[in-house]
Amino acid sequence: MRTVYVNGEYLPETEAKVSIFDRGFLMADGVYEVTSVLGGKLIDFEGHRVRLERSLNELDMQKPAAFDDLLDIHRELVRVNGIEDGMIYLQITRGSAGDRDFAFPDTETTTPTLVLFTQNKPGLANSPAAKAGIKVISIEDIRWGRRDIKTVQLLYPSMGKMMAKKAGCDDAWMVEDGAVTEGTSNNAYIVKGNRIITRQLSHDILHGITRAAVLRFAREAQMEVQERPFTIAEAQEADEAFITSASAFVMPVVEIDGVKLRDGTPGPVAARLREIYLDESIKAAV
Ligand code: PMP
Repeated sequence: MRTVYVNGEYLPETEAKVSIFDRGFLMADGVYEVTSVLGGKLIDFEGHRVRLERSLNELDMQKPAAFDDLLDIHRELVRVNGIEDGMIYLQITRGSAGDRDFAFPDTETTTPTLVLFTQNKPGLANSPAAKAGIKVISIEDIRWGRRDIKTVQLLYPSMGKMMAKKAGCDDAWMVEDGAVTEGTSNNAYIVKGNRIITRQLSHDILHGITRAAVLRFAREAQMEVQERPFTIAEAQEADEAFITSASAFVMPVVEIDGVKLRDGTPGPVAARLREIYLDESIKAAV
């Protein structure tokens, strides 16, 4: 049985409890991070920690008392659960005021809830999907206007994933005003020759930690990076497409709305970026 962390305690997962009045449960008033573990070490922990702090600030949410101990808590969960490859899920909510009210509770009396748990995924970096590539559909992006804050409001992305499954595909790219914003749980890219194109950072997309690393590695490898919006039609004509996220790393996209890219097989640029990303991130893991 997994050992999880709740508000200062390490407990068996069946004994961990959060109040029914918790604002994460009632209002999706919470933020989260997912950090990958490869070879028992954390990938880009500092990037996730910095983004978490930003999410809290943007929502005027208090840091939990244990905020400065997060690296130790991550490492302890990896250790006690014997995680070689997998993910650590972390969630902070505004806590429970003991009742339901739209107004934020008094921070003197209501403290944030902090929960972490592990997900064991042996062979996470060698998934068959990375060799075969994934198929995506496009759907309208009807999410709220602060997608740069990593909140637990994931209902529409979940629905998007189900729409993709129903269409026999793996994921959905969301489109707003004719341009792709991002995938349901990842950033979206196309490749044209030596140029990598991905939407620029704004309130419209999550500022992916993997995105930042991959764009840095791409520039270091003398690839050209263009941060701008692109359409589904442009993506369907591109040489390659791929997605990035903390748990998928760099994942090739081989079909968009039923149109195959190349001959429906992953391209060399995505493969190279995946290899560089994994090599460098494992080297820098903590
Ligand atoms: N966009 C969205 C909407 C996401 O949910 C995620 C993953 N949480 C990402 C992008 C990728 O971010 P990261 O590389 O930090 O995992």
